[in-house]
Amino acid sequence: MSDISTSGGAVPGGMGPVEAGSGGQPPKAGMVHCTSCGAEIAQVAQTCPKCGAPNLANGERTSEKSMVAAALLCFFFGTFGFHRFYVGKIITGILMILTLGGLGIWTLIDFVMIIVGSFRDKEGLPLKR
Ligand SMILES: [Zn+2]
Repeated sequence: MSDISTSGGAVPGGMGPVEAGSGGQPPKAGMVHCTSCGAEIAQVAQTCPKCGAPNLANGERTSEKSMVAAALLCFFFGTFGFHRFYVGKIITGILMILTLGGLGIWTLIDFVMIIVGSFRDKEGLPLKR
């Protein structure tokens, strides 16, 4: 005789109370005015939500290295990591020479990143357009 009984198990009730955003305006601190349209936008915003202009007050500096120069160096001498030496990435530049630009793949990836603006210099700053 086998009696299989399944017990439902106790379900503990009581989930944590979910607090929806209670009233209260965010402080004005941290807000800046858009340099293009004058709208008040968050200082950390990348672009103005109203006009789409880049938020210069964001403080995002750009590298003094030129994106065009890096792209040209990568295109012609990328296998030897010239573009990485150019932006100050000496270590990975040497690595690139030793691997011949990862047999071209690494160089190709770098080239695409330079073109789309994702390539950064040794300080992590985006290259100057
Ligand atoms: Zn704006």
